[in-house]
Amino acid sequence: MAANRLAGSNHDLRVSVINPATDFVERIRLHEVAAGSRATAAVPMGSVLAGHVDFIEDSASRIDPDNRRVHFSSGRAPIGYDALLYAVGSGQASSGVPEGVYGFGDAESAARLRTGLTRLDHGATVSIVGAGLTGVELAAEVAQQYPQLRVRLISRGLIAGGLSDSGSQAVRTRLAALGVDMVENADVQRSGGSTLISSGGLTMPSDCTVWAAGFRVPRLARDSGLPTDAEDRLIVDESLSCPGYPDIFGAGDAVRVPDSVGRHLRMSCASALPLGAHAADSIIARLENRPLAPLSAGYLIQCISLGRRSGLIQTVTPGDRPRRFVVRGSLAGLAKEQICRMTLSWLRGELRRSGSFKWPKGPLPVDASLPVEAR
Ligand SMILES: Cc1cc2nc3c(=O)[nH]c(=O)nc-3n(C[C@H](O)[C@H](O)[C@H](O)COP(=O)(O)OP(=O)(O)OC[C@H]3O[C@@H](n4cnc5c(N)ncnc54)[C@H](O)[C@@H]3O)c2cc1C
Repeated sequence: MAANRLAGSNHDLRVSVINPATDFVERIRLHEVAAGSRATAAVPMGSVLAGHVDFIEDSASRIDPDNRRVHFSSGRAPIGYDALLYAVGSGQASSGVPEGVYGFGDAESAARLRTGLTRLDHGATVSIVGAGLTGVELAAEVAQQYPQLRVRLISRGLIAGGLSDSGSQAVRTRLAALGVDMVENADVQRSGGSTLISSGGLTMPSDCTVWAAGFRVPRLARDSGLPTDAEDRLIVDESLSCPGYPDIFGAGDAVRVPDSVGRHLRMSCASALPLGAHAADSIIARLENRPLAPLSAGYLIQCISLGRRSGLIQTVTPGDRPRRFVVRGSLAGLAKEQICRMTLSWLRGELRRSGSFKWPKGPLPVDASLPVEAR
């Protein structure tokens, strides 16, 4: 999104994109890949990236902000930059995942899980730890594709507890219809052989365990000496510029946006696209010596797939709080599929006309000087 917006701007910019793989990965479809309902989530990079952008197939190993250079894992010669956008995203949680457990969140872990599922015996139990939207989508997809397996979804709190009452009820009804065993208020602490043990002492047999309890971001910013939060996310200001490093900007899952404009933002494609576009706008404003505008990005809906041909559309406030209205069943499944397709259309739209992507505004900025309860 950012590269296309910059490349198509009125400025004569040379834009380079660094990425370790030649394909763009639609991460929002990785549960489909893992469950075997879709062959791949890879899309040729050339179909979503402007033709005159330099594509560098490599991994950045270090950013040298003093000399404005990016170093590479392959050992190729470093490249210089005038402005750098940090958008390294997130992936499977690597720390805290017990041994013998499948991580989940990136293309490699989805491929491993896909193979692992095909090797399970009839009647084997698959446990998915973490019932956020990703865990729910994965549980439903696996249960539908593998009716001969027992699928268990384990949640620290209530499953789909962040949705409205009707939304959460619809998710639970669908999961139950797919035969998913829902275990709530269980904090999985350990995995011993083929057994999971929760903090409350609950012991659950498991032939295949998947950790879907949150994403981790790469350590690149921290290892490069850039300001990061405790979760290794690059700290940016309201304009998505990195404080103290005016030529470094950030977008997507790997950045920490200040609470004043980003308290409500969650790691999602729904946030990454507006952040990418806004970061590009900030870079252009800097080039034109204009003041940088604060980010304003909010939500309209949360879309959850519940196996093929079913889903839930939960309407939300700009600040991501659930509203009462939901759409469920096959209509929601159809809508979710259309929205997945639209993410690629938005990238391609920006490729054709820079500045074409628009997004919902965020909640009103928070006045940080007010006490929390008054905000
Ligand atoms: C199964 C699943 C379902 C999801 N469903 C939804 C959904 O329905 N709606 C929604 O809004 N979100 C969803 N998400 C979340 C969404 O996919 C992510 O939040 C989004 O992809 C983040 O975008 P990003 O651009 O920040 O990073 P990413 O999409 O993670 O892209 C980052 C890129 O940077 C590359 N990279 C990393 N390190 C380096 C380096 N050192 N050098 C060079 N390149 C590097 C990576 O290889 C990757 O290509 C889902 C995620 C998963 C896993």
